[in-house]
Amino acid sequence: MGAGLKEKLASGKEYYEVRLESIGGLGANLCGKMLGELGVKYLGLNSTNFSSYGSEKTGTPVKGFIRYCDEKKEIREHSPVEKPDLLIVFHQALLKDASVLKGCDEKTSIVLALEPGQEDVQMSEEGQQLASKSQIYGVEAQRIAMETKSRINVVMLGAALRLMGMGDTSVGQLICKDTLGKKYPDALAANIEGMRKGYEEIREMKLPCKEKLQEPDFEKKVSNEQQRWGYRTAPVGGVNPHFGSTVIADLSPSRQGYIPLFIKEKCINCGLCFSACPDMVFQFKKGEYKGKEMMVNQGLDYYHCKGCLRCVDVCPVNALVRGIESEHPEKDCFMPNQELLRNPDYYEEAGPDGYITSESYLTEKRMEGGEV
Ligand code: SF4
Ligand code: SF4
Repeated sequence: MGAGLKEKLASGKEYYEVRLESIGGLGANLCGKMLGELGVKYLGLNSTNFSSYGSEKTGTPVKGFIRYCDEKKEIREHSPVEKPDLLIVFHQALLKDASVLKGCDEKTSIVLALEPGQEDVQMSEEGQQLASKSQIYGVEAQRIAMETKSRINVVMLGAALRLMGMGDTSVGQLICKDTLGKKYPDALAANIEGMRKGYEEIREMKLPCKEKLQEPDFEKKVSNEQQRWGYRTAPVGGVNPHFGSTVIADLSPSRQGYIPLFIKEKCINCGLCFSACPDMVFQFKKGEYKGKEMMVNQGLDYYHCKGCLRCVDVCPVNALVRGIESEHPEKDCFMPNQELLRNPDYYEEAGPDGYITSESYLTEKRMEGGEV
């Protein structure tokens, strides 16, 4: 299963780096902590780990980063892992966003959480370009977690340990006891079993059309290049004018199989769903309801819906109900700012006002005819 952690560090590599790509609620944060901790406690290495996630943790994308190195080396690098040796993807839906695979090359092993019975890897052409040089593995994490009454994160932990070159699951068992044994002693045996099955049932996967892949079309920005503007290269005092990320962020990969369905005939336009939704998915416009002019619910912008189903809980008349996403492939996206879609990984260079500086402020005053 490729070169593991010890071989890579023994070959003179400075760090062995792991990136976790997940959705809030699947336990990637804890999995990252366990992976980091076991390096120090049981492998005689030095390690760090941290996660990054937004304020609305459940349902939103989460990333975790782990670095290992020789125990004598001090880890001074605390930036996100951009070129992982091991990439762990906790949910298939995340592959809709090809940037999840960014930085993968021939040295990378990728492990995907597969759907029950899944044979083929399902990813966009852009994703396949990015992953085409890497070794790809899969494990039926959800099925194993359900069978063993454990959680996806321990199954992925077991799979990761196998790819890191652990000869057996003893280290995994120790870290499960340390972390879960104290907090959830009743669930320990089930979690160790889930981890063990993840270790044993990981299998190699093939991209469906690896042979047919062309050289990347660079005009389409299918690229592993580092982003152009970062903390080192952005102009001093520069500000990204695309504040926040709500307009350009596609939250559909965060959904875990369910979506809210809107039954317009039942809606009384009370606006509770609008207040409860953390991502402003509901589109209200001036209209008429029962002969009165008022703001009328037009429906949802599924592009921004992360599937938390809070709106379903608050709707007083069941105008919103839980539906299974795969049964509704054609969904509306009322995107008012289509032109801003995406790629959020690039900052745009758009002339002097591309980022806001004192000079661009002056430019604006001139354009308005004001005095400079
Ligand atoms: S529309 Fe409903 S399910 Fe979607 S993000 Fe808003 S509250 Fe959550
Ligand atoms: S909470 Fe229900 S009834 Fe109220 S506006 Fe939303 S969908 Fe309509």
